Amino acid sequence: MRYVSTRGEAPAIGFWDAVLAGLAPDGGLYIPQAWPRFTDAEIAAFSGKPYAEVAAAVIGKFAGDDIVPAELLAMTREAYATFTHPAVTPVKELYPNLYLLELFHGPTLAFKDVAMQILARLYDKALKAKGRHLTIVAATSGDTGGAAVEAFRGASNARIMILFPDGRISEVQRRFMTTTGEANVANVAVQGSFDDCQTIVKDMFGDKALRQVVDLSGVNSINWARIAAQAVYYFTSAVALGAPHRKVSFVVPTGNFGDAFAGYVAKQMGLPIETITVATNSNDIVARAIETGRYVRGAVQATQSPAMDIQIASNFERLYFEAVGRDAAATALAFKTFAMPNNSDGIDIPPEALAFMRKLFAGDSVDEAQTSDEIARTLKDTGEVIDPHTAVAIRAARRIQAKDTSTPLVVLSTAHPAKFPEAVREAAGVEPRLPLAAVGLDTKTETFDRLPADADAVKAYLRNFAGAA
Ligand SMILES: *Cc1c(COP(=O)(O)O)cnc(C)c1O
Repeated sequence: MRYVSTRGEAPAIGFWDAVLAGLAPDGGLYIPQAWPRFTDAEIAAFSGKPYAEVAAAVIGKFAGDDIVPAELLAMTREAYATFTHPAVTPVKELYPNLYLLELFHGPTLAFKDVAMQILARLYDKALKAKGRHLTIVAATSGDTGGAAVEAFRGASNARIMILFPDGRISEVQRRFMTTTGEANVANVAVQGSFDDCQTIVKDMFGDKALRQVVDLSGVNSINWARIAAQAVYYFTSAVALGAPHRKVSFVVPTGNFGDAFAGYVAKQMGLPIETITVATNSNDIVARAIETGRYVRGAVQATQSPAMDIQIASNFERLYFEAVGRDAAATALAFKTFAMPNNSDGIDIPPEALAFMRKLFAGDSVDEAQTSDEIARTLKDTGEVIDPHTAVAIRAARRIQAKDTSTPLVVLSTAHPAKFPEAVREAAGVEPRLPLAAVGLDTKTETFDRLPADADAVKAYLRNFAGAA
């Protein structure tokens, strides 16, 4: 299997290079040269199989001959043994024909674990084969950092350094990153905002002298292996509800559009998905693009669902590339135009491309009052305590079901409510309990350093951490 850039000006690469790759050198995102497919009989055979087996089958389609199936299966078994639920990502009926797909039973209680756990194992194999030793650097507004630290802690050929905004993430989120006690993990509390953290990370990746002495890598949501790993639970949940003999629809709480794009991937692989509704909070760039045909950013607003407080949905470029018939020149032009500093008008999606997107995708945005109301209402009606990201999607699902209840509707539940206790308490007056696996987190010793929001200071820290001072 080969991977091409959405902007067409970078050479195609193989699976193992795609595992380690961030942006392509031409600024595009890697995508498979052609979509692998399952037959209906193959999809039907997923029924009743352990999650790790379906994961190996789906991810294996993207690795092709580059990995021995038994070896991949050993990796997915190990990755998903870190989840506390035997089904890994269980499906639960919430209302008639409306189901919750619980993606938060991993070690850091958010869906980022599903991809990060297998990514770390794929990294390990790729790095050993290439004899490389990497330093992973990431900025986090909360969930990605914890999932990445948990997945890469103790790795023999990768170090990981996380930058987070000092005092602006929840204590639970911080403790998942700072209590590992591992020498290959460094945490830096930056005295600034999440944007400051991200700007420093970008500065580091653009610093040629630094990159000559430190082999840098990123694990953000544009990574192809993460997308492939997220396609898996579309298969397991749809098959549990009758696919391939029956169509299923999904509602996805969306920020960077990685999770929703994974649904598109599952559809291309043969899964009969009727509709994917992209549910956003008031940071509604993707929902608006699908509704209006114009992709234009606004100012980021802080909400109670912070993992979706994003105004540039990086993975949207992959859908655009598909929607313009894989015209790389058109994609490059559109996204270079979008990124121009003084472009406040965004870009128009060509009519045929918009029609293509709307065949599968719909968009809906949910405001703060509706989100709180949904947390309270779901508790009252069903007894389930849900987190604010999931609440956004359930509200969107309610609107869909007001029109049509004939197709099974699956809502992706992306975080455990105990990760966002303040929002849940304020909305519903209850205190979500931490699952057993996370109990004790509050008494472990934390290790992190505080640095000013200054790229040079952080770079000096990184050189020291990477042994390149
Ligand atoms: C990251 C995240 C999302 C958004 O996922 P994208 O792939 O960026 O669209 C939604 N909910 C939670 C809890 C998250 O951590």
